[in-house]
Amino acid sequence: MTMTQRKESPARTPASPSSFETFGLHAELLRAVRELGFEQPTPIQADAIPAGLAGRDVLACAMTGSGKTAAFLLPILERLRAKPRGTTRALILTPTRELAAQIEEHRAQLAQHTRVTGAAVFGGVAMGPQEQAFRRGTDILIATPGRLLDHFGRGYARLNGLELLVLDEADRMLDMGFLPDIRRVLRHLPSRRRQTFFFSATLPRPIVELSRELLVAPAAINVERKAAPATGVAQAVYPVPQQLKVALLLELLRRDELGNVIVFCRTKHRANRLAEKLDRVGVSVAKMHGNRSQAQRTEALAGFKSGRYRVLAATDIVARGIDVEALDHVLNFDVPKTPDDYIHRVGRTARAGATGDAYTFVASEEEGELRAIERAVGRRLERRTLAGFDYAAVVQERLEVPLAERIAGMRARTAEERARARANAERRGLVAAGSGARANGGRRGNRGGGR
Ligand code: AMP
Repeated sequence: MTMTQRKESPARTPASPSSFETFGLHAELLRAVRELGFEQPTPIQADAIPAGLAGRDVLACAMTGSGKTAAFLLPILERLRAKPRGTTRALILTPTRELAAQIEEHRAQLAQHTRVTGAAVFGGVAMGPQEQAFRRGTDILIATPGRLLDHFGRGYARLNGLELLVLDEADRMLDMGFLPDIRRVLRHLPSRRRQTFFFSATLPRPIVELSRELLVAPAAINVERKAAPATGVAQAVYPVPQQLKVALLLELLRRDELGNVIVFCRTKHRANRLAEKLDRVGVSVAKMHGNRSQAQRTEALAGFKSGRYRVLAATDIVARGIDVEALDHVLNFDVPKTPDDYIHRVGRTARAGATGDAYTFVASEEEGELRAIERAVGRRLERRTLAGFDYAAVVQERLEVPLAERIAGMRARTAEERARARANAERRGLVAAGSGARANGGRRGNRGGGR
């Protein structure tokens, strides 16, 4: 993957800074920025950091990969570095555990030469260590809304000294049904004036309404721009019959046309089945979806990041926002349901200033959804055909057995079991042929039908 400067940047004044030095950040922070290898602020940072340092509320449209995390962390760290420790002054709300962990990691990097502390607060792990973060008055808490509410339900979690609030990936929190939780969290925060950073990739109406409630005269960054995947991402579509998607994926991997790749599937079931199939033919693959435990997700992500797994088979709820260094490709194994989902997923490859490719497999029945996506991104996506791939191959094995067939299969199995039970009973002479066993089988049959 090549590092390229973004072609597109939001409108800037001629005086907008092209180096971190011009922001007036303390030397401790500039040193950390340098050590991270950040040479130039990204467009979102160039706009959000000065506004944040000036104490303004910020409303920004930004994707993962835009450098948005440092865009809110740097002004927060600057504001907190000279203050006394022991009070939680900043709260960052984010939709997923992975994002919370990632933001905390980034905080630790940027704050390494300061004394500003931080902790991630998310579900799926013990409450105890997180309780300590509240009791110690950790400077910056990075939390998922549900777990934060669990802590608020106990006496120790008080954020009376809060001065700074961040809503990260607000639109995804909406998608995940967290809006009521967010409102509940807000009721636990002190009512005095605070500075709020509101980041969202897209601005659906409920998000605009929430931003209006929370922000006072915000610096609006990128909000007029039509939501679009970060530039530098090559996007292409592979039309392919549904039953040949696995074969096409394998062929792209075999030819190294796909490097390390996150493969998004429509359902957990499809992600599981796909992972099984890849595993069977020796492709190293990990799974990431809502049915996986926190430990399994952490292992999958760490393994994928370290290169142990070449493929991460995922559904997008949990995988969204994951920042993987040098991710080569994103593959939509299924066409995303909404244009916003598409834009989010494709954003995975676009780290700050880097490029990556995003491919989408489209079966004929998915053409309608693809057209909606093309309308939203404002152009027709390039169609590709893989030379030498047998698009007419007949494949027996499918990723998913249609529901009607699954039910018919279950009924057939129940009938077989019943027949076997009756035969066994008759053989043992336990019951008179055709009487009790049939009654027993009849009950089973009813249960099976009711399922
Ligand atoms: P984010 O959009 O905050 O998830 O950031 C995506 C990636 O870009 C992270 O790996 C950051 O470390 C990296 N990054 C953030 N700011 C810069 C910068 N100014 N220059 C180079 N990389 C950056």
